[in-house]
Amino acid sequence: MTDAKPDRSAWLKGGNSKCQAKPAATGKPWRFVLLGAPGVGKGTQAELLTARLGACHLSTGDIFRAAKQLDERERTPALTAALEYMRRGELVPDSTVIDIVRERRECLKCESGFLLDGFPRTVAQADALEVLLKEEGLRLDAVLNYELPIELIVKRLSGRRTCPGCKAVYHIENRPPKKEGVCDNCGGELYHREDDRPESIRVRMEAYWKSTAPLTDFYNRRGLLLTIPANGTPEEIFNRTMEALHARS
Ligand code: AMP
Repeated sequence: MTDAKPDRSAWLKGGNSKCQAKPAATGKPWRFVLLGAPGVGKGTQAELLTARLGACHLSTGDIFRAAKQLDERERTPALTAALEYMRRGELVPDSTVIDIVRERRECLKCESGFLLDGFPRTVAQADALEVLLKEEGLRLDAVLNYELPIELIVKRLSGRRTCPGCKAVYHIENRPPKKEGVCDNCGGELYHREDDRPESIRVRMEAYWKSTAPLTDFYNRRGLLLTIPANGTPEEIFNRTMEALHARS
């Protein structure tokens, strides 16, 4: 075990990459899926849940953002095409995303457990995940479904700023960094994600309602769904999440 921040290399880079630092073990490996529209604060909850429960934060959006930093010659054609979908705020085709997650199936077996964030995003992806988990003899503990009214979502996304270095997420009003435009953790220069701009937000919300919202039914039928109101501060939402988990166990 190590005190270093989990680097998620195996997930972000794929191939033969190995994680140098994993989340600190806390006993039981928790395995969750996080659901919710873009901007409900899943990424922030994932950070807090990782710190408390030790599960590794596996975000498919982070894989694509990491690929964006690579030289074009280092990317596969499928990844280059995926980044174009992402830039427009559209969903990347299921086959590409499912292949990417299958290639990283070791991460699902991680002894720290996992928090899948941004995957699955369609029923086809949820089916593929179910098959993968079955093949590995693993079960989900819960699907955490964060809900927030649309006006608040748009406000959150348009004020969101992200650190390119350590991926910390801020908000210009609700969670400002100590120094404007600079990451508190690593000093990185904060940026406004291309897909957090108004034109992309609209496309992403439509994709969510059409493709991802049906997953609440999918997981409800399997008795896994825990719906959590995502209004309030990150700490309040986190406390609600822990209460919902305790009430269930
Ligand atoms: P996120 O950070 O989860 O909001 O993802 C950012 C973007 O990456 C999305 O708007 C999609 O273009 C793409 N993406 C991430 N995960 C998936 C997925 N599971 N299926 C399809 N597209 C995805």
